[in-house]
Amino acid sequence: MAAPLLSSQPKRSIENNVLSFVRSGAAESLSAQEILTWSVKNLAPRIALSCSFGAPEGLALLDMMHRIDPASRVFVLDTGRLPQETYDLIDRVRDRYDKRVEVVFPRPEAVRAMVSERGLNPFYESVESRQRCCDVRKVEPVNRYLAEADLDAWVTGLRRDQNVTRSETPKLELDAAHGGIIKVNPIADWTRDQVMEYVEANAVPTNRLHAAGYPSVGCAPCSRAVQPGDDPRSGRWWWESADTRECGLHVDAEDQGSGI
Ligand code: SF4
Repeated sequence: MAAPLLSSQPKRSIENNVLSFVRSGAAESLSAQEILTWSVKNLAPRIALSCSFGAPEGLALLDMMHRIDPASRVFVLDTGRLPQETYDLIDRVRDRYDKRVEVVFPRPEAVRAMVSERGLNPFYESVESRQRCCDVRKVEPVNRYLAEADLDAWVTGLRRDQNVTRSETPKLELDAAHGGIIKVNPIADWTRDQVMEYVEANAVPTNRLHAAGYPSVGCAPCSRAVQPGDDPRSGRWWWESADTRECGLHVDAEDQGSGI
């Protein structure tokens, strides 16, 4: 499996004034729209939104970015195990915004080797088996995309109150796990209610499974509905303890994120 491009240095193509702003922490006082406007102005077209199409955060950001720049880039990871409702939503978004969605796939040979060794549904057997599946179907493809798509920045829908592992998320940071590009987290300080207010006020298309009780929708076998008032993350990998429920995409020098 290809290792992510670890770098304690910023990517060389990023200009010094941009780096200075990121390092200054000044973005913490800016709104989501202000951060996206700054990011598009300084980094487009070498910036792309990571949208899972399974959580309202990514769709709200897609709508905001599109209003700022109709040519803004968005990519989605197709793990091969997504529910039909997510594929339907990708097409609805393409039609609504007339926007090309870049689709990232796992390596067929890696999926074939894992399935041959562990079967089609290895994720329920152990944390190690589940993490291997996430590595093959999520982490490696996104790492590869970020390394090969010639980006200086990516945008995520991470929020601080989603999980204990995300409580320190800054609005702008250098992503050492992905070659020193900039990771833009414009709604890091938003609540779930704020996201839903934005989505409803702007008629942003969202995943139909939310109406069936799914707060976030990932792969079909690893997502389920939750009861009102339950922790939204409890609908993902519910058979594991809370401290292991990350796919590995968003983890400091050894981790990556995207709401994927
Ligand atoms: S969420 Fe489940 S099916 Fe999807 S990559 Fe992870 S373990 Fe595999």
